[in-house]
Amino acid sequence: MSIKQNLEKIKTNINTACEKCGRNPEDVTILAVTKTRSADEINEVIDLGIVNIGENRVQELIAKYDSVSEEARWHLIGHLQKNKVKYIADKVCMIHSVDSPELAEEIDRRCKKINKTMDILIEVNISGEETKSGISPDKIRDFINLVSSFDNIKIRGLMTMAPKYAPDEELHRIFSGLATLAKNISDYENVSMDYLSMGMSGDYEAAICEGSNIVRIGTALFQ
Ligand SMILES: *Cc1c(COP(=O)(O)O)cnc(C)c1O
Repeated sequence: MSIKQNLEKIKTNINTACEKCGRNPEDVTILAVTKTRSADEINEVIDLGIVNIGENRVQELIAKYDSVSEEARWHLIGHLQKNKVKYIADKVCMIHSVDSPELAEEIDRRCKKINKTMDILIEVNISGEETKSGISPDKIRDFINLVSSFDNIKIRGLMTMAPKYAPDEELHRIFSGLATLAKNISDYENVSMDYLSMGMSGDYEAAICEGSNIVRIGTALFQ
């Protein structure tokens, strides 16, 4: 199927999921995950109206950046090494994968230099899988206490990844866990919990029903 047809199918599924759980589909943003995809493919997606583009590797984002339409709003969604922040600070509108105070500090430092405030999401390891990156829920307040006073980053919400092939019950538990955590930490003055970035090709419907408003979709869009 074409990207256009895939997108139509995804939108239909999002509408159905929203109907089921009483949400407005307009509140769900599709982030096209474009790792391993060409600049041409990314431009095609942008022409179809999907301007939020997610890459998980700095190198790959930089390689495609100049060949992609300026309409793109780039998001860094994968594990980010501190020493690579300088390459993308001016290019991305949001970093979904902030998982340590040191990384937050480096983003703040680099953004200060270019007079920018970066929207960040805290990546949370809800599932407790050892291989997964992300901050554990019981450490999140310490993290916020450390970084919420930084001038050049703004915490806008949370992100998580569910394990691949997790049964539906576990998916719902993980996604509702992230939503509950966001509610529980909504008491900080300079922190907002506008965004829940959760759900990928295999589990976005479950994520939407638990309150996701950014779904990160690669395979289902480009297969
Ligand atoms: C690859 C990736 C996705 C998209 O995964 P699909 O299953 O291809 O939709 C979402 N989030 C992150 C962090 C990724 O690395």
